[in-house]
Amino acid sequence: MALSSATALSGAFSQHTSMKESGVMARYQCPDCSYVYDEEKGEAHEGFPPNTSWAQIPEDWACPDCAVRDKPDFIPLDPGEVGEKAAASSTGGAER
Ligand SMILES: [Zn+2]
Repeated sequence: MALSSATALSGAFSQHTSMKESGVMARYQCPDCSYVYDEEKGEAHEGFPPNTSWAQIPEDWACPDCAVRDKPDFIPLDPGEVGEKAAASSTGGAER
């Protein structure tokens, strides 16, 4: 009897805390195209290695995809939100 309630509790807990503690890396999206700069991945083509923070990107850096927008135009994305959306669209619910 006591077993089932204990497992339900820990399951709900682990999902939330892991997101908060590793929420250092952020993503920024170009408002013109759908390009997203991920701090965790960096942008090798632009000379930014993985884990290059947004603050280290030059202010005059332009979007590598459309070259229309500069760094100040990029929109900060909520890490948790993006991850969930990307996962949902890429898997297409095939696993469930
Ligand atoms: Zn762009």
